[in-house]
Amino acid sequence: MQLESALTEDQRQVLWKFVRGDVNANEFEKWLYNETALETAFEDESYLILIGCDFRSKEDTYKIKASIRSVLEVGENCRCLAVRDLDNIEMGGDWFFEKFFATLTKLASPPTKQWWLYISRCNACCTNWLVAQEERIHDQFYVERISDRVVQKAKAGIWPDRFRTYADVLDMGVKLGVSEARFVDPMSGSLQVTVEELLQTVLTISAREVGL
Ligand SMILES: [Zn+2]
Repeated sequence: MQLESALTEDQRQVLWKFVRGDVNANEFEKWLYNETALETAFEDESYLILIGCDFRSKEDTYKIKASIRSVLEVGENCRCLAVRDLDNIEMGGDWFFEKFFATLTKLASPPTKQWWLYISRCNACCTNWLVAQEERIHDQFYVERISDRVVQKAKAGIWPDRFRTYADVLDMGVKLGVSEARFVDPMSGSLQVTVEELLQTVLTISAREVGL
């Protein structure tokens, strides 16, 4: 797939939202047919492929996303647009996290004992990210796009509710469908430490919930 001329900022944003999953195929299809200016932005054959896609087919949608992504990635200075508004990024895996964090600078950490939590800003596109680091069970970063206002409030001591406890962080793994970790040693150090912390920080949690 190829571009004929530069995309507008709005077009680039919507295409990325579709690729990363913040806009569903149905919404994207409607936008696509209304956004007739795309016809001149994409090279002829690429545009025909785009509007010829059967968005009801999961396979076709997956393929078209991959094609659009390869076009969009050219010339991007950071990886922010590839990440959903609320997303998980694997530590290790395909090492995408290294590229994502390469342009991020830490802005603030909570004044409390929430060691897993911080706010970073991208030096390239100025997106702010709330980051929760879950390195004990699933090895994931959970990230959420946040506004400048939320950053200012956090700097003044009022942090967002999201990821307030380590149990919230673990819950996010379930919500985002991160596969369950299997520990060879059920009494492994990181599991014990996590259970102790859950018991300390979440007073309402029952022993049954933490599997004791
Ligand atoms: Zn960025």
